[in-house]
Amino acid sequence: MPGPVVDAVAGAAAALGLLGGGLVYASVWPTSQIFGRTLVAGSDPRHVALTFDDGPNDAATPELLEVLARHHVKATFFAMGSYARMRPDIVRAVVAAGHLLGNHTMKHPKLSMESAARVRQELADCNAVLEDIAGVAVRFFRPPFGARRPVVLRIARELGLTPVMWNVTGYDWNPIGADRILDKLQAGITRSRLQRSSANLLLHDGGHRTMGAPRMDTVHAVDRLLTSHRGPEGSGTRFVTVDAWG
Ligand SMILES: [Zn+2]
Repeated sequence: MPGPVVDAVAGAAAALGLLGGGLVYASVWPTSQIFGRTLVAGSDPRHVALTFDDGPNDAATPELLEVLARHHVKATFFAMGSYARMRPDIVRAVVAAGHLLGNHTMKHPKLSMESAARVRQELADCNAVLEDIAGVAVRFFRPPFGARRPVVLRIARELGLTPVMWNVTGYDWNPIGADRILDKLQAGITRSRLQRSSANLLLHDGGHRTMGAPRMDTVHAVDRLLTSHRGPEGSGTRFVTVDAWG
């Protein structure tokens, strides 16, 4: 299996952050490996993973599933256990469509600030809820806010979960519009390829503060991204789920 790719520029920036007393900064820098190994991306520059956090969401996940089905693309959904309990039908639809389901904790706490006992409970409870609803094993975990420290990663691994970060950010938790989300994604894919890395795209089909967050800009941006990478004359992009890398 290809090892996680460490972004050299990000690594240097994280190291500088440490020198400046920026331990907290380093613990949320998405490609930093300072606090333990995490899966960032594979090494095949053609690979692009669409990953969606903070769902399931009434207001966007069903529409997103339609877009992905129309383009015959599979994605990775890091779902919150509390939302999954509210909308188990959407979780089952995600899995039935062949997408990969991942753990994004029950209630989205910043795990780097929590006790070991709370971290374990958030991860274990979310896994139990998702596995009960979907009937599949959940093996991947994305920490809320990207926040981690060694104990978080150790507990995740004890529970059989691979921590997954990202190397391209859609910034879609801000109301920046589909055009700008798409620009961020395309620029990030181009940058990853120049660095001979796969691209792991951070997007959101929900919002961690409340069910029903408006995310149709994300859905539209994804539709246009997939249209632009389609066809034999396209860029050779292969959309994968994160289990392709580990
Ligand atoms: Zn989140």
